[in-house]
Amino acid sequence: MLLHIGLDDTDSPEGGCTTYIVARLVEELEALGVMFADYPNLLRLNPNVPWKTRGNGAVCLRMEVEPAMEGVVRKMVVDAVEGQAEFQCENTNPGVVFHTGEIPDSLMDFSDRVVQGVVTLEEALRLINDAGGHAIGYKNMRGLIGALAAVGGLQRGDHTFEVLTYRSPENCGSPRMLDEGSVRAMDAALCDATFNNVDPESGRVLIAPHGPDPVLYGVRGETPEAVYRAYEMVKPLEPVERWAIFRSNQGTDAHLRYRSNVDEIEAYSPAIVSGEVTEAPRTIKGGHVIFGLSDETGRIDCAAYEPTGSFREVVRKLIPGDAVRAYGGVREEGSRRTLNLEKMEVLKLAEDVQLVNPACPECSGTMESMGRGKGYRCRRCGHRDSNLEKHPVVVDRGLEVGLYIPPAKAQRHLTKPLSRYGMEKEYMHGELFQPWHGA
Ligand code: ATP
Repeated sequence: MLLHIGLDDTDSPEGGCTTYIVARLVEELEALGVMFADYPNLLRLNPNVPWKTRGNGAVCLRMEVEPAMEGVVRKMVVDAVEGQAEFQCENTNPGVVFHTGEIPDSLMDFSDRVVQGVVTLEEALRLINDAGGHAIGYKNMRGLIGALAAVGGLQRGDHTFEVLTYRSPENCGSPRMLDEGSVRAMDAALCDATFNNVDPESGRVLIAPHGPDPVLYGVRGETPEAVYRAYEMVKPLEPVERWAIFRSNQGTDAHLRYRSNVDEIEAYSPAIVSGEVTEAPRTIKGGHVIFGLSDETGRIDCAAYEPTGSFREVVRKLIPGDAVRAYGGVREEGSRRTLNLEKMEVLKLAEDVQLVNPACPECSGTMESMGRGKGYRCRRCGHRDSNLEKHPVVVDRGLEVGLYIPPAKAQRHLTKPLSRYGMEKEYMHGELFQPWHGA
């Protein structure tokens, strides 16, 4: 029988990681004789929900098991969660969902909604009941939302892969030790098949996180072969306790699917809004750049935050009258909503017409005003003329119509980088690449 096991919300800001629990389970389950039907799935959920610990990820294992083994497998999973989840953290509310057989459309649709919006626990519980699943929710049980979404996720559409490597427990919390030269060499060799290894602007290596979690590094790419090759090339300078390849919706823009009018966008949800720039960009304290965008239903602030680096330079070049499509997550403070920009498409550029001083009719030199209504004087030859006036000039915008995305270091897990445009693929079942995990 085909068994799907979704897990979520096991970690805390102090440590842990749901993917690590799963990577350990893979070894134990394989020793038990289960046949994996897919790589472990790492589903990134709506990045704007306020309850997330870090990257709002949930995980699903899919396997063929003998019906007689199901009970043993379930116990192994429950023991792993109960033994390793960070229960002491107030905000950790683990959830485990077991589902057998094919994945119904209702579960896939639910999963999409968890990636693209905000759902309630009641909805998840109802669906678990309807789909005949079996679930265990701990504490406030919120983790069931992500666990169920993971079960229903990655059954259709674009996907990517990530090889994740894990540290020995005794090293967790100390700085990660990696040979950065090997990461750059890997990036140069595999740049067509992997993405976001190194930030092109700052040169910073991006594959290693910075928190107390057990991940040493992760490389994202188009195929299991590519990320395995990356794993072979990157030289860790500390022991790798285990590693596994995950299939994921990272780098696919799975969260950015709905175009909305300004009056339809909801707090904590991703949105795509097209409109006209109605208030010129201004830079506020902290280096964040904000402009006003309006459509026929209302106006909203769009923000390019300081970490988006050079992307802010592009945003600063906008002027009222430009048509843009803004992609991002909606934040709400009081009654004010802000679209936190993840990408921006400039659809149409307004003409930037500026009034400039006339050129000198005698020598073509630059003229300066002699005071309001008093005409102009040439700086070069001294010619004076009281009949001349400023004249309109169309200024080069220094900006092109097109798609703009912040640099890799500022992208969210789900953001599709420019290098992936045109690489989208459909999910097809097939043999798993070997090896896809190890200890
Ligand atoms: P972890 O590695 O433990 O998964 P995380 O950063 O992914 O860490 P969680 O600790 O899982 O974050 O917290 C996210 C919580 O929010 C989970 O309980 C999850 O079920 C819930 N959640 C995620 N997405 C949504 C959503 N779209 N609507 C409602 N709840 C959500």
